[in-house]
Amino acid sequence: MAEDLEKEYDMSINSQLKIAIDGPAGSGKSTVAREVARRLNVVYLDTGAMYRAITLKLVRESCDLSAPGAVEPLLERTVVQILADERIMLDGEDVTGEIRTPAVNAVVSRVAELPAVRRKMVRQQQEIAAVSKGIVMEGRDIASTVMPDAPFKFYLDAALPVRARRRFLEQRDQGLSHSYENTIDEINKRDRIDSERADSPLRVTPGTAIIDTTSLTIEEVVERILQGINLQTD
Ligand code: C5P
Repeated sequence: MAEDLEKEYDMSINSQLKIAIDGPAGSGKSTVAREVARRLNVVYLDTGAMYRAITLKLVRESCDLSAPGAVEPLLERTVVQILADERIMLDGEDVTGEIRTPAVNAVVSRVAELPAVRRKMVRQQQEIAAVSKGIVMEGRDIASTVMPDAPFKFYLDAALPVRARRRFLEQRDQGLSHSYENTIDEINKRDRIDSERADSPLRVTPGTAIIDTTSLTIEEVVERILQGINLQTD
């Protein structure tokens, strides 16, 4: 089914099936992007996980983020890989669980502000897109910077209390102890840094469809995206 859809797509539009999904924390991007990719049988890439892995490395090495010249040598000897089953590897070690901990949440946006970090991540993400027949990539700067040529661009958003509640429940399910108040503060802070930074901030680019997920189910958001790219699936 998915193969047929891809063929149909290729024949009608004659281009790669590239879908960019951006939005703030808790907007539902990851769950939705993963499901869209599954239905279309294309690669799913969570770029936030890559920034989280780099952050973990800098935290482990107690790197001073404000010291000029401290970050780049570390980056040169850091290898981040995302496997097909979504496991994330840092220098060959599986860090899938550790990248979601409060220690990483607290500084990831500070790390993601650094141009050297962004250059490395964007290059790697563009290489993955180039070798993929089709891809759903989600993050903050996918439409603006990583895949500006993507024919399909979506921006997911939701009211802050709703986003914080989703994140809080996710963290609780993973056994991470965090209060709702902490979660709302953390998301608020990350949103501000992500949208105010100088290098490729979170924003809506022209040609992007905005979907407010506040009162939509995951399935409804997935359907809107599939309708947006003019494909129907089971
Ligand atoms: O999506 P997630 O919440 O895991 O992303 C963690 C952080 O990584 C974001 O708050 C942001 O600072 C950074 N990020 C980014 N650009 C991306 C994806 C994530 O700056 N494309």
